[in-house]
Amino acid sequence: MIENYEQYLDFLTGKLNKFFEAQAPYIFCKRGCAKCCQEGEYPFSQIEFDYLIRGFTSLPKETRFEILNNIAQIKLAKKNSTEEKFLYQCPFLINNECSVYAYRGIICRSFGLIYTVAGEAKPKIPFCAYKGLNYSNVFDTETGMIPTEKYKALNIDKEPLAYNVSYNFLTSEDFEKMFKFKFGDKKPLIDWF
Ligand code: SF4
Repeated sequence: MIENYEQYLDFLTGKLNKFFEAQAPYIFCKRGCAKCCQEGEYPFSQIEFDYLIRGFTSLPKETRFEILNNIAQIKLAKKNSTEEKFLYQCPFLINNECSVYAYRGIICRSFGLIYTVAGEAKPKIPFCAYKGLNYSNVFDTETGMIPTEKYKALNIDKEPLAYNVSYNFLTSEDFEKMFKFKFGDKKPLIDWF
């Protein structure tokens, strides 16, 4: 089953690379940024988690120890939290880089693009737009819109295209059928431990 999931990941990587390339004028992702790994819930399905653990087991002992320590601290903070939505830094983020990059989850791969959500008219903008990063050169944080004059100023005729790359869509039955595997249960990464 993992082999089929890897085939899906190859397919997804091909698509996402094209999308990120097409949106290059608005994308400020770069190695070491990691803002998207510093505060989140990180939904993971069973198969994504199993794959992540493959990456984890291949790490040096000291890194594994550091990650386990991070997990213990996050679990404790979650236990003491009264927040409805508990946000935390990903325990796999070590020295501002993903320690399991080749094995990272689907949300980690697709994050950073404007995307559509089934049933919602307005596209979703990544929070990077509020941090001076992705889409900040065209997005108006006060109105929550992308004004025409902003992308025209970049010599671009059409507004940035929003892609169908929501986590729910990318982990839908459509892809299970196409690649013959199951995603399984889904929950925030920290709840898998
Ligand atoms: S698994 Fe890696 S890419 Fe995904 S949130 Fe954690 S540190 Fe970031």
